Amino acid sequence: MAAWVLAGRAFVRGRLQSVEIGISEDGMILSVGKVRSDAPRHDVGEGVILPSASDLHVHFREPGGPDGGESIATGTTQAAVGGVALVGEMPNTNPPVTDVETLMDKAGRVQGAAAVDVLLYASPTRPRALDRLASRAGAFKLYLSPTTGIDTPPDPGELGPLLARLADLGLPVSVHAEDPAMFVSTSDAEDPTAWDSARPPVAERAAIERLLRLAPPALRLHVAHVTQSESVDRLRAAGVSFEVTPHHLLLSEHSRSDAMTKVNPPLRSEKVRRALWERFLRGDVPCVASDHAPHSLTAKERRFPLAPSGMPGVETLLPLLLASVRSGALGLPVLVAAACDRPARWLGQPHGRIAPGHRAHLLVVDFRQRTRIDPAQLHAPCGWTAFEGWEAIFPREHYFHGQKIVADGEFVGRPSGIVVRPEFAPRPR
Ligand SMILES: [Zn+2]
Repeated sequence: MAAWVLAGRAFVRGRLQSVEIGISEDGMILSVGKVRSDAPRHDVGEGVILPSASDLHVHFREPGGPDGGESIATGTTQAAVGGVALVGEMPNTNPPVTDVETLMDKAGRVQGAAAVDVLLYASPTRPRALDRLASRAGAFKLYLSPTTGIDTPPDPGELGPLLARLADLGLPVSVHAEDPAMFVSTSDAEDPTAWDSARPPVAERAAIERLLRLAPPALRLHVAHVTQSESVDRLRAAGVSFEVTPHHLLLSEHSRSDAMTKVNPPLRSEKVRRALWERFLRGDVPCVASDHAPHSLTAKERRFPLAPSGMPGVETLLPLLLASVRSGALGLPVLVAAACDRPARWLGQPHGRIAPGHRAHLLVVDFRQRTRIDPAQLHAPCGWTAFEGWEAIFPREHYFHGQKIVADGEFVGRPSGIVVRPEFAPRPR
């Protein structure tokens, strides 16, 4: 029996159609079509009902900082307001999530604090901790170059055996694919375009080649933040999942003259960016993710060589791309596939589609409600965005496990997010 009904034009089976969505007491979609019951009914009027997004790649910095005032509570609130119902939280917190005790400490921090669901990545840097980690983590994140908090990528000889071991464990594995052997030292360069030369596109391509050579077919592999069309070709040919970020799609190395958009992998030339955007528009990119990394304004205002890499983005991920749908540049089916459906599938989660048996994580979007991104209106403690002034469409309402958590752009729910793990059957051992 439906506890209530959400009615209106909804994105169902690849197109917008008028439906009634029957939602159960425990927040699942029971039916899509006509609902014959007296259950309370909410008609969205001029709005459009979309599945909530999943962001495969966020850094909420809890525990341990480093800076920016971010936490699981603040990060998931931004996610909720931006239309994201599930985040994949990366393991390079402090201490890094390399054993089950650290993982369970982080899981404990989610309960009662998170506004949306959280899937916790673990780092596979301690071979002896892997079995226990795999029984509790949601996915693994592997860095092929040093990063904040995890500065020991696997030795070249260790990578093949590690990937084989991870394939046996059955969890999804996301990889930061840049080969540090191809990095060029430009330690004192003040020019933002020097960052692209320091960590050149060829470093990404080399790391992807090595990964594809060594990864067993059974590995649930995904490559994080791909920046170039050549990588799209290679990963599509290999049938491997990957993501792109809004900043690599929309910004280039010339977008700013300061360190606000310093990020790893770097923003590329306008030509490379445009080619990536074209591939995204064509539907050649399976997933979009933010790589939300909310450094403080003070840290980002340092001289370019000293500023940390990364920028916030979980709250603006979907709204920026909804504005591209509104302008006619981007097809709604392409966006829903990349932001909602495929990320949820890769993480083994029953949502991201409006279909019976899926969680009622649903958005109401009014495409007439265009705004300009204003950092003062965002919910990020760091207080800045690289997309200031960009056009955006924020969801009018967000339903999470069937409950309204966002109304008119503000979080109105309780922190009822839970820790989720992949729901697909484990691989036979
Ligand atoms: Zn990241």
